[in-house]
Amino acid sequence: VIWHVLGAGSLGCLWATRLRRAGLPVRLILRDAERLAAYRANGGCVTLIENALPQAYPVDAQTADRQEPVERLLVACKAYDAEQAVAQLIPRLAKGADVILLQNGLGSQDAVAARIPDARCLFASSTEGAFRESDWCVRFAGHGFTWLGDAANPVAPLLLKDLHDSGIPHEWTPDILSRLWRKLAINCAINPLTVLHDCRNGGLLEHGGEVATLCAELTQLLERCGQPAAALDLQSEVLRVINATAANYASMHQDVANRRRTEIRYLLGYACAEAVRHRCPTPHLQHLQTRLTAHLASKGLRTD
Ligand code: NAP
Repeated sequence: VIWHVLGAGSLGCLWATRLRRAGLPVRLILRDAERLAAYRANGGCVTLIENALPQAYPVDAQTADRQEPVERLLVACKAYDAEQAVAQLIPRLAKGADVILLQNGLGSQDAVAARIPDARCLFASSTEGAFRESDWCVRFAGHGFTWLGDAANPVAPLLLKDLHDSGIPHEWTPDILSRLWRKLAINCAINPLTVLHDCRNGGLLEHGGEVATLCAELTQLLERCGQPAAALDLQSEVLRVINATAANYASMHQDVANRRRTEIRYLLGYACAEAVRHRCPTPHLQHLQTRLTAHLASKGLRTD
């Protein structure tokens, strides 16, 4: 079965090169004819830098309007692009196609799934890190792990064999929503504060009170949303992450520093919206969102 990879950014290129290296058929789906022409002018290759060694892999590319049926799709766009990008492929999607959603946060997966009811959407939560050095050239941080699951169907899909053969560290889980919620809550407790205090993750050790208050509200929210497992010892996990990644800048901090649009709507924004929906009082979380939104706006960045 052919792998179609929608979005040739950091994660899209990281997955495409490893699948290709294992001899599997892979097609990149690029944004438009202009991007496709640029890719071809660049040699039609994706370069993966692993352990400081660059290796170029020839990967076929196409645009969404090609006729080839799509049976196995990896959606590697940002959360705010996923729904529109997948919608373009609806005429090509085979009935029962597997669609892996790599987006961070929550909200975009349900939006995509609602558009393609005849496909099987597999949600993913990944700790793998990759960074774009230039167009179609990614540097792999070299470690990490991807959880995959389908909240509606615990039966593992056949495509896991391809991931195994490609050396993509992964595991199938029946509790993918719990994992996504846990990651989202940790993100909410760390990322916005690093933006507002303009600090590395370790800088939050000086703001322990603020972090603790947010963790208390997030714990209540997770319980109210029917995710008690994701709420377990949240604060100690957040402190562990802060210590383990003290020297790093959080992804949202990097986005803001590089003047890129953030995924706020699918992270803190989603948590705040769910709190309102479940009538769960979270004043500090809501205030955090107000502050973060104002901060982004003051920098001329999008707040949605
Ligand atoms: P990225 O580098 O910005 O890549 C996204 C790609 O999607 C871009 O290449 C973009 O094209 C493409 N795209 C957007 N709309 C498209 C469309 N309609 N058709 C075709 N391509 C389209 O993003 P990323 O870092 O890989 O992140 C993807 C998701 O994974 C995010 O939700 C992120 O939070 C999550 N994630 C990332 C990492 C990581 O280490 N990078 C780790 C864990 C989770 P252009 O190049 O033309 O703009």
